[in-house]
Amino acid sequence: MRFTDQVVIVTGASRGIGREIARSFAVEGAKVACVATRLGGAQKTAEEIGGGAKGYACDVSDSASVDALIEAVQADLGVPAVLVNNAGVTKDTLLMRMKDEDFDRVVAVNLKGAFNLIRAASRSMMKARYGRIVNISSVVGLHGAAGQVNYAASKAGLIGLTLSVAKELGSRGITCNAVAPGFIETDMTEDLPQEFREGVEKNAPVGRLGKPEDIAPAILFLASAEASYITGQTLTVDGGLFL
Ligand code: NAP
Repeated sequence: MRFTDQVVIVTGASRGIGREIARSFAVEGAKVACVATRLGGAQKTAEEIGGGAKGYACDVSDSASVDALIEAVQADLGVPAVLVNNAGVTKDTLLMRMKDEDFDRVVAVNLKGAFNLIRAASRSMMKARYGRIVNISSVVGLHGAAGQVNYAASKAGLIGLTLSVAKELGSRGITCNAVAPGFIETDMTEDLPQEFREGVEKNAPVGRLGKPEDIAPAILFLASAEASYITGQTLTVDGGLFL
């Protein structure tokens, strides 16, 4: 039970990777604030995982909503020890067809959203002189992908954000790391063409796409007390796809 009574905020917790991250923290004793755009989904995860978890609706791209979220979490559950910035969206299309709003929305949710949460949550982490921040990037942020200039820019930006936050907050007992998943079976990847899936299965040494259960353990490790000397790192969890 590595997280007994710790308050853990997980954004994008209604589905996919975020739901599994939230469940894994609850199994290890955490009180999890499950955040999603739709309250119903956030509450459903909270009810399923138990352990004092609570669901919150918040659009992470809206800084006023994020500030209100952090105040509500602190009032309901206590000061957050762990923040996992997992909420993310895609709006894929080729560069020449990409509209301004496709680019701006993906960057606003995936990158500015993490900034909003970190700025709001780190105030009380600094006072407590303890915190663990984990940002969910992507192999696409490290290697790029045709049709995803917006998503790749947002996920690469998260790595720069992670490095800078690590440098600013390390002296206050706060670490900040990133996890870069490969291709994981969730709603986000359900429309991947069959030939793309077969390519991943062929090229990844482990021979398959990932599952949310493959990602959550990496996040729990980086969020644990034992990981106090690891900061500013990006841990790729992709079955060796890009070796
Ligand atoms: P998913 O199944 O599509 O779930 C996305 C989650 O983000 C949902 O809970 C959604 O809430 C929430 N969300 C979306 N926009 C939000 C906003 N503006 N404010 C708050 N919450 C918002 O995604 P996933 O595949 O689990 O991916 C989770 C993270 O891993 C994302 O950051 C993604 O980029 C990253 N990732 C995924 C893969 C992959 O292969 N799946 C690979 C690398 C990285 P609602 O349900 O309320 O909409």
